[in-house]
Amino acid sequence: MLINGKWKNNSNNNVFESFDPSNQKTLGTIQDSSKADILEAIDAAQNAFNNWSQITPYERSKFLYNSWENMIKNQDSLARVMTLEQGKTLKSAKAEVKYASDFLLWYAEEAKRINGKFITSEKADQRFIIQKIPVGVVGAITPWNYPISMITRKLAPALAAGCSIILKPSELTPLCAIETFKILHDSGFPNGVINLVTPSDPKETGDIFTSDPRIAKITFTGSTNVGRLLASKSGKNLKRISLELGGHAPFIIFPDADPVHAAKGLSALKFLNSGQACISPNRIFVHESIKEIFEKTLLERVIKIKVGSGLDESSKMGPLINEKAILKIQNQVKDALKKGAKLIFGGKTLNSEPLDNGFFYSPTILSGITTNMKIFREETFGPVAPIIFYKDTEEAIKMANDTEYGLAAYIYTKNISLAIKTMERLNFAIIGINDVNPTSSAIPFGGMANSGIGREGGYEGIEEYLETKSIGINI
Ligand code: ADP
Repeated sequence: MLINGKWKNNSNNNVFESFDPSNQKTLGTIQDSSKADILEAIDAAQNAFNNWSQITPYERSKFLYNSWENMIKNQDSLARVMTLEQGKTLKSAKAEVKYASDFLLWYAEEAKRINGKFITSEKADQRFIIQKIPVGVVGAITPWNYPISMITRKLAPALAAGCSIILKPSELTPLCAIETFKILHDSGFPNGVINLVTPSDPKETGDIFTSDPRIAKITFTGSTNVGRLLASKSGKNLKRISLELGGHAPFIIFPDADPVHAAKGLSALKFLNSGQACISPNRIFVHESIKEIFEKTLLERVIKIKVGSGLDESSKMGPLINEKAILKIQNQVKDALKKGAKLIFGGKTLNSEPLDNGFFYSPTILSGITTNMKIFREETFGPVAPIIFYKDTEEAIKMANDTEYGLAAYIYTKNISLAIKTMERLNFAIIGINDVNPTSSAIPFGGMANSGIGREGGYEGIEEYLETKSIGINI
């Protein structure tokens, strides 16, 4: 744990282990933070806040620049830890470290642009100033699927704004958080500005963050169920909260689109991180007229996805995070097949040597998906591509919007008018038009409806950590 600038062991000597999902071997022993440790971290953050919020954004920016440089310097070792602990391929892990470092750099720059306003009054002898101030101490909770970039996406804007922070990473990827914090700590942040606690049971931290009066703001990325729980507990104490939750992305391919290009884009996106992403396509709407060529191209690509340890350079897809993830997928695939879906490829766990001790599942294509199947409603978080063939554009848009989620959606067409009209009608906050990567540190990321509250990235990302003060001056 990193508390008040010092690496510490747990006060009760309790520990737990972190595992490699490709073979279930132990990777390391983690300090199981107690309630006392979490409270000590909040104390440290509260004490550090006074100075950190008072120094100029130009000074805060320097620390963020240093940490960006440090992360780039250590990118290979960070990526390796991520592959070992989370499972993704080394190539994907390197891409994630780059994405993670982007937030440090972007907010190092944005820190200098936290500006207020000078406003005139209807009274001749009055002026107004609008000032932006840091919200206070931030409690952050992050998931295992993007275990490093989800840390910097919260931490960088919070620090730039002048907030101090306590991070609780997922208990499934604590080593990624520890390695990230080593880099941040070595970048010289003053004691107590950044704190890391690593409890094995997340519930207590959630309870403390939502009730301790010293925590001004909670930022969470994870499942919709836990997000809802944290929001309701925070509501009682009127705490500011940002939630980045689940998704159920539609991927609509219109009849005029290039089906080969669309199938290639889909296979690149769908199987990234073994499908464990909140913006992963979960319902693929393909027009009947391009069905054969789309399906053929997708199959050709998917057959070539070699599954194996992320450290093996020939692997194109790594394991899933744990047994629970495999069971969820098995359940959805079984339900879909029972209700009439067609299995085009995969649909099974991979457990023969050398994959026998890991959580591997074959990349899978299902077609003939209908709205009564679990896979049409529940987030899959796995390497399954569920296809729906449609005839009518209106019907496709209506089905795409038929979900409780509102995170990402994708459209493939060469018709710019159709693209814009569809984009405007889709109830999702992130839209890719012939683009499978509509994300960047420079733009807001977040969801509508049950996909969450608030945004991360871009100017909107720093606003989440700022309060607005209005000052009237009689002159
Ligand atoms: P997943 O099911 O994908 O693991 P979770 O929402 O359970 O997603 O986990 C995301 C993050 O939320 C992790 O850091 C986890 O430890 C944390 N978490 C899970 N349950 C709670 C809870 N009751 N209170 C606070 N944090 C929680």
